[in-house]
Amino acid sequence: VTAPVRLPTFSSLPRWFACELTDVLPRAEEPSEASEAGDSRHAFFQRISELLGADENRTLDEARELALAECLPEHLEVLRAIPVDSPAFRFDSVAAEVALAVNLKTGEGRELGRGLGRDYSGAGPDELVGTIDRLGLIGEDGLYVGDYKGRAHRRAPSQDPQFLAATLAAARAYGRTWAEIEVINIVGDEVFARKERVDLLEIDTFEQRLLTRRALAEKNQVAHAADPADLPEATLGEHCRYCPSLRYCPAKMELARAVLGGDNDEIRAIKAAGAAYLTSESAARLHGLVKQAEQVLEIVKEAIVDYARQTPFQLDDGSGRWYGVPPAAQTRELLDGRKVQKVLAELFGEEAGAAGVTVKPTLEGIEKAVKAWLTANPTLSKKGAIKENREKAEALLLERGLMRVIQGGTVKVHKREG
Ligand code: SF4
Repeated sequence: VTAPVRLPTFSSLPRWFACELTDVLPRAEEPSEASEAGDSRHAFFQRISELLGADENRTLDEARELALAECLPEHLEVLRAIPVDSPAFRFDSVAAEVALAVNLKTGEGRELGRGLGRDYSGAGPDELVGTIDRLGLIGEDGLYVGDYKGRAHRRAPSQDPQFLAATLAAARAYGRTWAEIEVINIVGDEVFARKERVDLLEIDTFEQRLLTRRALAEKNQVAHAADPADLPEATLGEHCRYCPSLRYCPAKMELARAVLGGDNDEIRAIKAAGAAYLTSESAARLHGLVKQAEQVLEIVKEAIVDYARQTPFQLDDGSGRWYGVPPAAQTRELLDGRKVQKVLAELFGEEAGAAGVTVKPTLEGIEKAVKAWLTANPTLSKKGAIKENREKAEALLLERGLMRVIQGGTVKVHKREG
């Protein structure tokens, strides 16, 4: 009797299809900045939908303000910029944050609930699960399946396993035969929506693809259980970025070993234990190695950038994207911060002008001011004048409460007494 095959969630399917090694490695789910930002966005939209559903007299603006009031302060700026009144959103016509499951043994689909916050504990071992941001029914036999994505997401919805799995589960759950699937890319305060249609044949073909991959995962897991050294092939790529097995991945370790020249056991231990593994001796040695490796990588990276500037090339990650200067690229540059601020203030008012241009005082700026002053007043220039006047300026700034001194700082190479 073998253990049930470990299945990914809808959103992890692109990685599951790309790399067989994920079938057997342990996982350590660690929230990333990107996943936290994504979760906050999803919760924000869900809350707007709920608020609109709860009171039909409530306007979108009111719902948005109420939802914003419940968000964490660090996400406010990004969420406030989203133009929720864009026609792409249509909050009133869809259900939000719908958790779905499709049973890979029986082919049946079901809705697990709404707003579960990725809690799939109610799902069975043969169920592939996931959450879709937007779900609606069209006519007698159609579906609408939509999901919000950030800047980095470029896959067409009809080619995206996450969308296709949600469509399969929903089609089976609600007895539907076709779907309009839509990716809504939110890039700052702009929204780009792309909608495609999939029919029964594509939905069924995707199910077959899932079953084939599941059979392969089972084979990989059985072989690995019988002999832990038997590992399926690794495929490195963009999909590694948020891989929960990254810490345990021998392919990544091999790459680190090749770059660092360290030994496998040591790198494996660092991946598992992080800082807890290090001693002052190994930390010092590895710090030197990392510096060497960074220098080499910098040289290689620069060569690649130079090459791509002359000869753009297509990435080998299957995304169809290129590396090089985009053909229609232009670089826009603003020249004089104060004058730019004036123009913005003229157009949009003082407050907006101040919000649009940031004046950032720096310690280097104090020194620059002193040097400019000494250049304009050469008679005051003498040995130690820069230091003396910089200290004078800092003392005045401290006195006026415009500078503060905080104990501690960043980790860096430095000298110590004794
Ligand atoms: S880190 Fe990349 S290569 Fe390693 S298991 Fe994850 S997806 Fe595969």
